[in-house]
Amino acid sequence: MYLVKTPILLSKMTSRSLVWNIKTSEKKIFLTFDDGPTEELTENILSILKDYKAKATFFCVGENAKNYPLLMQKIQLAGHTIGNHSYNHLNGWKSTTNDYKENIEKASKHIASILFRPPYGRINYSQIKQLKTEYKIIMWSLLSGDFDVKISPQQCYDNVLQSRAGDIVVFHDNIKAQEKVLEVLPRYLKYFSELGFEFCRLDL
Ligand SMILES: [Zn+2]
Repeated sequence: MYLVKTPILLSKMTSRSLVWNIKTSEKKIFLTFDDGPTEELTENILSILKDYKAKATFFCVGENAKNYPLLMQKIQLAGHTIGNHSYNHLNGWKSTTNDYKENIEKASKHIASILFRPPYGRINYSQIKQLKTEYKIIMWSLLSGDFDVKISPQQCYDNVLQSRAGDIVVFHDNIKAQEKVLEVLPRYLKYFSELGFEFCRLDL
């Protein structure tokens, strides 16, 4: 069970420690790709982004960053930002604060970034308190649902059509999301580019 759009109340209550969206009156959307890099998908995503002059932020898993340093370089050379997504996709709700922090530090050896996104969005208060001095903790305002095997590519497209200026939108650089990303991402970028939107990386 997940919500495509983050409830306004939740984002307001936690907005001092967590970034849920970017306040802007400009037509800007902040794309993010979680879980990569992957041999299967990263280069395809980069090529689609290039077609629409779109920039994005890739929240990478440390283990993948370690295994695919060339892909990490390609992401950054193409002008995108990288962020930390833990070393091996750790669930904060099932980890002690110490283990969680150590895991993120381990990932940081392969991902030089002050941006961090908690895997599954699951992070507790004590972990936030520990991390927020060193990291900007980035959540989201819109989920594509590309990871959800129960929805069709069309439903995933309908989800992202709800994008608004300043939204932080989540896709996945993950084999489980491959089919939907390859089908939906180009349609999505085309639609919003034609409406005058710019796709931006997070520069915080
Ligand atoms: Zn993830």
